[in-house]
Amino acid sequence: MRDIFQNLKCIKQRVAYAAEASGRSAEQIKLVAVSKTHPPETIHEAIAAGQPIFGENRIQDALPKIVALPPETIWHFIGHLQSNKVRKALGRFLLFHGVDNTELACQMDRIAGELGINVQILLEVNVSGEGSKYGFTPADLPAAMETLLPLTRVHIEGLMTMAPYSENPETARPHFARLRELRDSLARHTGHPLTELSMGMSGDFEQGIAEGATIIRVGSAIFGERPLN
Ligand SMILES: *Cc1c(COP(=O)(O)O)cnc(C)c1O
Repeated sequence: MRDIFQNLKCIKQRVAYAAEASGRSAEQIKLVAVSKTHPPETIHEAIAAGQPIFGENRIQDALPKIVALPPETIWHFIGHLQSNKVRKALGRFLLFHGVDNTELACQMDRIAGELGINVQILLEVNVSGEGSKYGFTPADLPAAMETLLPLTRVHIEGLMTMAPYSENPETARPHFARLRELRDSLARHTGHPLTELSMGMSGDFEQGIAEGATIIRVGSAIFGERPLN
């Protein structure tokens, strides 16, 4: 119990410090506690410590936890949604971080229409071409935005990226800066604000905040190391 409580407290202090260091306010930054692989009891400890938002990356693992935990708990989907899971996932998550193709977003829009709900998404961008194999390339983004902005149920709230793995968190910084620049230029060209920037994990969230992150996704620094699978 004490560890999660202490870890959250420590991360919030680091968030506040990083925000202040770049002239921002900690209130502008949402912490998503990435609870993938962890059971409901563990998530409950974080809820008891005051953490409201959790991130999961597999629908089949997330749904039993969502059912088991209090209905006011806020869930973000941070993985890659397969098209056969869209119907199960919609309505369960406040925000979908990893949308990386227009077909998926169009399918989400159609099914959301059938269900009579709205869906908030972030477009995942592969800024560097190295890190993740997922994500729109920066060059593909303008056309993707043009296709997706007319959708009536799916709303693009911003962009998300994962920096390539590195021992040195400063390596992530230019990737995060590039995501912010891409957002600024897309917002200017489309007139659509794209307010959210989801960037930064346990090893590099301070760099994310310094470059303008509004959402950070932190797992192991809160819950400890995950078992390898
Ligand atoms: C697992 C995961 C995280 C959290 O990673 P940590 O290094 O444990 O903080 C963040 N974002 C995504 C997309 C993930 O899959």
